[in-house]
Amino acid sequence: PFTWIAFIVDLSEYKRLEDSLTRRAAELAEADRRKDEFLAMLAHELRNPLAPIRNAVHILHRQAPLLPESQRPLEMIERQTQHLARLVDDLLDVSRVTRGKINLQKMPVDLVALTARVVENHRPSASAHQHTVSLTLPPRPLYVEGDDVRLTQVLDNLLSNANKYTPDGGHIWITVREGQGEAIVSVRDSGIGIAEDELPGVFELFAQVDPGIDRARGGLGIGLSLVKRLVEMHGGRVRAHSDGHGTGSEFIVYLPLLSQIAHPPDDEQAQP
Ligand code: ADP
Repeated sequence: PFTWIAFIVDLSEYKRLEDSLTRRAAELAEADRRKDEFLAMLAHELRNPLAPIRNAVHILHRQAPLLPESQRPLEMIERQTQHLARLVDDLLDVSRVTRGKINLQKMPVDLVALTARVVENHRPSASAHQHTVSLTLPPRPLYVEGDDVRLTQVLDNLLSNANKYTPDGGHIWITVREGQGEAIVSVRDSGIGIAEDELPGVFELFAQVDPGIDRARGGLGIGLSLVKRLVEMHGGRVRAHSDGHGTGSEFIVYLPLLSQIAHPPDDEQAQP
């Protein structure tokens, strides 16, 4: 009889534990939902005053030749508001993706042309840091079913990071190639690298591997989480590699190929 009583006591203890875990999970889900709502509200509220500030700076900028001494501070305000606008836009996007509020405008996109375009746009900031940029593209287009704007944003983020986390005079390699039914884009740099134990966390929202370094570089830890979510919305995946601090990093995006467009049948090609 004693063991039976012990068993019954144990069962009720188990039930109590289960109830408390269920309650805790519901509380966490609610806290998560409120965090997402807060992020969305914050991003909207921060965005509103930014447009008039940028307009005002633009107007002042046009008058700057009349006031040469205001030129430098104005340029500084312009640069910083641009930076702030980018952070706020990323925050807004990430909260939209989290709440399933981003609609992709999908169409056949040539990833080779898209990559070439994004890399060209990044050349000025890379050369401002004396980075060497090497771009390797396949000889023919690689089509994926995607949203041009969002895929541009993915590559933009990876290239900005490569630029940001590579000390001046470094090297950035961008390669597009075809894998098994996939288009593969790799962005590799000779920069500060990422420690092995920190690699899995880099795609998490607000991830900052070394807060000391990264605060100075001005990031919020949003970019890579956005990259991951956008790539996954395209049915693809993204991986990060690094052999540790000081050895550079590589980010690789895999996207399913629209193979019928990438490889027109031979007889079709042969037609006059
Ligand atoms: P952040 O705005 O901080 O750059 P990201 O989400 O883009 O946010 O990146 C998250 C973290 O991953 C960064 O803070 C940085 O520590 C690390 N990281 C990202 N890209 C690189 C890179 N190319 N080289 C080294 N570390 C990187």
